[in-house]
Amino acid sequence: MLKPFAPGCAKGDPVIETAPTPRARVQAMKEYHPPLGCRDSLRLDFNENTLACSPKVREALAAISTGALTRYPEREPLELLVAAHLHLAQSQVALTNGVDEAIHVLFEAFLESSDEVLLPVPTYTMYEVYASATDARIVPVQAADDLQFPFESLLAAITPHTKIIAIANPNSPSGSMATRAQIVEIARRAPHAVLLVDEAYFHFCGETVIDLVGIVPNLIVARTFSKAYGLAGLRLGLLAGPVELMRWVRRVLSPYSVNSLALACLPPALEDTAYLDWYVGEVLQARADFETALDACKLRRWPSRANFVLVEIGARHAEFVRLMRSAGVLVRDRSSDPGCDGRVRITIGTRQQMQQASATLNQVLAAMKAQL
Ligand code: PMP
Repeated sequence: MLKPFAPGCAKGDPVIETAPTPRARVQAMKEYHPPLGCRDSLRLDFNENTLACSPKVREALAAISTGALTRYPEREPLELLVAAHLHLAQSQVALTNGVDEAIHVLFEAFLESSDEVLLPVPTYTMYEVYASATDARIVPVQAADDLQFPFESLLAAITPHTKIIAIANPNSPSGSMATRAQIVEIARRAPHAVLLVDEAYFHFCGETVIDLVGIVPNLIVARTFSKAYGLAGLRLGLLAGPVELMRWVRRVLSPYSVNSLALACLPPALEDTAYLDWYVGEVLQARADFETALDACKLRRWPSRANFVLVEIGARHAEFVRLMRSAGVLVRDRSSDPGCDGRVRITIGTRQQMQQASATLNQVLAAMKAQL
């Protein structure tokens, strides 16, 4: 119950006892609390870069002037730069406050009460969060036990009401991918829907459909600077799509949502390809080593094209995650994801970090065995 509003109230004023209520859909939304507290250990829980961003980005941050801080951020010149980097026109690209804002804005711009959002699941949680804040209906399309992209079921789920289809490619938490041919076919079979292909983990797989932006008329691609670039704290992402769709995105997007610090870091982040290549190479080698270590422990795992791997721990998944945390390694329990009971996602960092992770994993598994 709200406390009566006291300051300025005259004696005898009516006391408002009921709080203003949000839309019914917002009231029905599940709360989402990512486990962010106390993350000073080895962070293998959020698929971030586990080391650092490029030193050139650090230099740009240190050189920020007070003038740059007092002014409202100007996104357009940086959109021009990023568009050139992606071989697209400026009007086809919008920078956003992380891909999360991009998803939010896209859903706000396109979804109405009679619409359906198709989500191959399990997938990235925020699609469901933002879709459930709209009046549209969420249609989950469950992957089989191999967690491969459910192409045929997704095609079968397309209806005249389908308005958005969101595909994380590579997907999280599975690490699996839809092929380029599958994406093109989905776009063709749902010309009345926006096909969002979220390439947050693009750098780790090297496959993209961003070259089809403007060619496939309903395709919008998302990219982030939170993963390989190591800038999750700055909140920088983008949407790339045909001008006809991007103009609606821009109507909803705040002109100032990408802050000056993030904008200043964008040119050096894009320029320092040597750093990016080094980090991605390191992760790919570490992933191969870590997969070998998982196989040696006889743990089931799903083939991954990204900087994480999903592992079957079984009924004692919560205990496993807790023991790993106590031993200084944070991993992410994905048991509540559809079709993921007993499965834990482990981010891949550098080779050295993953050696620490495998040693800890072995100790934790031995301790759990001893308790049986
Ligand atoms: N898309 C996918 C598939 C993700 O896994 C994540 C982060 N975990 C994001 C988007 C969020 O990206 P950003 O930090 O740019 O909001």
